[in-house]
Amino acid sequence: MHRFFVAPEAIANGTAVIEGEDVQHMKKVLRLSRGDEVTLCDGRKTEYTARIERMEKECITLQILASASSKTEPRCSVTLYQGLPKAGKLETIVQKCVELGVSRIIPFQAARSVVQLSARDFEKKRPRYARVAYEAAKQSRRGIIPEIGGLADLSTENFSEYDLVLLAYEEEHGMTLKQALRCAENISRLALIIGPEGGFACDEVASLAERGAVPVSLGPRILRTETAGMAALAMALYELEG
Ligand code: SAH
Repeated sequence: MHRFFVAPEAIANGTAVIEGEDVQHMKKVLRLSRGDEVTLCDGRKTEYTARIERMEKECITLQILASASSKTEPRCSVTLYQGLPKAGKLETIVQKCVELGVSRIIPFQAARSVVQLSARDFEKKRPRYARVAYEAAKQSRRGIIPEIGGLADLSTENFSEYDLVLLAYEEEHGMTLKQALRCAENISRLALIIGPEGGFACDEVASLAERGAVPVSLGPRILRTETAGMAALAMALYELEG
């Protein structure tokens, strides 16, 4: 069944209203018509089976037939802090990590980031990444559209909302990601921090560790920054979701 995200406000009293670009897509590309059933997701982990009632030029009205909570969301929400990589790589990271189950991606400017952007310049690019996240969430049937945060400064970032903060550090040769996750209990909010192409500077690691981040190894091989986030996310959810 075809699947669409709709804003929660677009669903009320047993009726859903679709507006915007999905209207043309449903009519012209998918050739849906009155009586056809589709799945709608409100982006807050609730899914609806709905039947098309009325098709107008700019909007489609559907009758809600059933609702259920999304079965595709991991129990643990994972925020990926990604050291700003070279142009193009962040799109790949967003797309793949959304498929793998990330809840939020927050890029940050690191001392050794090859690309140095101001938070304002990143804002201009943010809609593009949000679009990639939306498309990936749609295709992988996510129950949420993972958020792309603004460019963060990790030296002032507050990590108090997380149960555990793991810093993937290529120079860590003791603690592995697996060991760190096995030591911790009841993790429902996890942060994973991945450095940029140039890796982390020692003082960045020290400052993050002081604020509770646990440096972990992702294994004996050095991964590229765009591989490290995907690998760490897949490993973490494999370990946590059983
Ligand atoms: N330039 C560095 C590698 C940076 S890799 C060097 O050549 O040594 C980019 C980022 O990916 C790192 O900062 C780290 O966060 C993560 N990463 C890659 N491989 C890793 C590993 N084996 N263990 C932990 N983190 C790793």
